[in-house]
Amino acid sequence: MIKQIAVLPGDGIGPEVTGEAVQLLEEVGIQFGHTFHFQYADIGGCALDKTGTPLPEETLQLCRESDAILLGAVGGPKWDHGPGEKRPEAGLLGLRKELQLYANLRPVIVFPALANASSLKAEVLEGVDLMIIRELTGGLYFGQPRGRKQTDQGLAVVDTLYYTEAEIERVLRKAFEIARVRKKHLVSVDKANVLDSSRLWRETADRIGKEYPDVKLEHMLVDNAAMQLVRKPSQFDTVVTENMFGDILSDEAAMLSGSLGMLPSASLSEDGPGLYEPVHGSAPDIAGQNLANPLATFLSVAMMLKYSFHLEKEAQAVEQAIRKVLDDGYRTRDLAQEGEPALSTTEMGEKVRAYL
Ligand code: ATP
Ligand code: MG
Repeated sequence: MIKQIAVLPGDGIGPEVTGEAVQLLEEVGIQFGHTFHFQYADIGGCALDKTGTPLPEETLQLCRESDAILLGAVGGPKWDHGPGEKRPEAGLLGLRKELQLYANLRPVIVFPALANASSLKAEVLEGVDLMIIRELTGGLYFGQPRGRKQTDQGLAVVDTLYYTEAEIERVLRKAFEIARVRKKHLVSVDKANVLDSSRLWRETADRIGKEYPDVKLEHMLVDNAAMQLVRKPSQFDTVVTENMFGDILSDEAAMLSGSLGMLPSASLSEDGPGLYEPVHGSAPDIAGQNLANPLATFLSVAMMLKYSFHLEKEAQAVEQAIRKVLDDGYRTRDLAQEGEPALSTTEMGEKVRAYL
């Protein structure tokens, strides 16, 4: 198989973790007989510095022409005080919107070797293997009108939670498809007791659900879902929800696994390239020091192999290699116990390639 991958290293630790991920993909290519071509482009703060915009047209063009996109992270203190459109994060939001990456997939897997890194008890974490699907291009984060204005009562503000039925339908459909290849249990999270948008969400889920009679659909209010996620996370298999609820719940669920350095994500569109990136940010405090944990990016590579290239065996080989490395006690600094020796970013990369 021959594939073109756009690599957007971004800022902070982004170049370090994507550098290792590219080498891992090359190793997968050698072992399984595939050719991956890598093309690099700027996004975020580094793009702002070079071109004055966080999402240059060339970057967007390269992404559109590629089979998949591997992204590191964007942002850092250097750019924190710019106006909204001059923020590195605007580059990532723009890319998601331009490529219509409407379904954000965030798996939460608890590696038994790391169970002690979580703040929850081992018995609560047993058997946790869940996938949160967050709508990514609509809702409160994009709805118009928005902003503040002076009124005779003082300052007033508005944000708009806007969804078309088609936007709700496509992400729900994606969620049913994913639930179907998992444990066939889908929890749709909303706030249908209060919000009109949630009522349409729920009606749509029920309607689409009829096309997937093999998937058990359950509705849950978001406040209850937030509670259940820490009370008994193993009750969840696949979860789908709108943009803001998904933002909050996926960060909450992320903490089940104990470390930001272990969490991958995929953002998918209807038929364009998928975007794969670690959940963590640019970690400016450890950037450039060869300390970052590359495993979240490696797990994102496994998702790319699975969801964009349908290379199931290859994806499993990457996950297995990571599991073995952890079982054998290898840790980067963020995962190591006090006083325990730790591997650098590049050493962890070498280890995983060797185990593969
Ligand atoms: P952003 O605003 O970009 O989401 P953030 O404020 O959520 O950033 P991160 O950049 O993700 O923060 O970092 C949060 C903390 O976690 C930092 O102390 C950072 O060093 C640590 N961290 C994040 N990613 C990693 C990683 N891959 N390896 C080791 N430590 C990490
Ligand atoms: Mg963050």
